[in-house]
Amino acid sequence: MPTDPADAAAAAVDADEVLALAQALIQARSENPGATEDAAAEVATGVLLGLGAAPSTIRGEAGRPSVVATIGGDHGPSLAWNGHLDTVPAGSPDTWSVDPFEGAVVDGRLIGRGACDMKGPVAAALVAAAAVVHAGVELAGSLTFHLVADEELAGTHGTQVLRDRGLLTQGAAIVGEPSNLEVALAERGGAWVTATTYGAAAHGSQPDRGVNAITAMARFLLRVHEVVPETVHPLCGRATVNAALISGGSAPNMVPDRCVVDIDRRTIPGETDPEKVLAPFLALADEIRADDPSFDLRTEIREWILAAESPADTPIAEAIRAAAAAETGAVPPDVGFTGITDARFYLNDAAIPTVIFGPGDLSVAHTADEWIGVDDLVAGARTYARIFASFLGA
Ligand SMILES: [Zn+2]
Repeated sequence: MPTDPADAAAAAVDADEVLALAQALIQARSENPGATEDAAAEVATGVLLGLGAAPSTIRGEAGRPSVVATIGGDHGPSLAWNGHLDTVPAGSPDTWSVDPFEGAVVDGRLIGRGACDMKGPVAAALVAAAAVVHAGVELAGSLTFHLVADEELAGTHGTQVLRDRGLLTQGAAIVGEPSNLEVALAERGGAWVTATTYGAAAHGSQPDRGVNAITAMARFLLRVHEVVPETVHPLCGRATVNAALISGGSAPNMVPDRCVVDIDRRTIPGETDPEKVLAPFLALADEIRADDPSFDLRTEIREWILAAESPADTPIAEAIRAAAAAETGAVPPDVGFTGITDARFYLNDAAIPTVIFGPGDLSVAHTADEWIGVDDLVAGARTYARIFASFLGA
């Protein structure tokens, strides 16, 4: 038996149990939209009850379940581990090589909707907690699971509910999204901008009598990349802009008088002022108008999510690096996370030092044949077990 509690906890991870739990979670289908997280919440609740925890199910207005449960003591640090129970839809089953809700293993890969994002990581964390318990490692501090609904559609019915109920009180947090077991300390935010060009309708056979709103929008979109500042964040890189959705015109024989585009402008940490993000859109419109006085474009920010960032030297980040190094022999790099996660609620709303850290590769999330390596799942569970044992003062 290893004498170091972190070694003992890692050694107690049961590889078969991690895979079986990840498969059970995948089989508990929970596509969002759909409000169907109850089955996955039940699987997680069963595991937590088996660990002697007293899980509670927190539901917001829309009735979606988030499972909250604590193990450990109350005379040491406190840590929240957050993972979401919902997934994006599987899409058309014939784009998959296996049933997306079976949990098939092919060539060492667990394939299924949610395999890496993020039922696999949830299974790894739960089995890590089980390993801590089974190894007889007494935690001085507390480990609280926040297994939430609705992350894929902005967290309104999940982590945001926990925030509103005053449950984000821990001294540190891990959001277990798939980071390839690298230390993700920052994530980008987003500004969803609606841009509308206004023209003047006319008979389609006499375009000169009207002003074409679609052509006007085309001029704008061909230069929209100019609205992104040059600033580079050390972990997140540059901001991005993407014209995502377009509609315009009302009949094939009319000059269109309106064109609307939804623009997805991703922000980097430090971009905190919506007006500043919008200003280059307005400046670009002014430039085009100087050349063509009929050009009329208006913009508004429909939705705004602040980017988030954690300092590099927090105790939880140090504990994660040490655990990963003990497990793999190398300290993982600090990275930025390209997507938006529930880490923002802990960092921006509750000022809790938070690291995004989990097994699996985000680039296969949301795809057909989404997968996670079975070895990666087990490495994730062993690393989490080390973190729980060392950070919570065994
Ligand atoms: Zn996710």
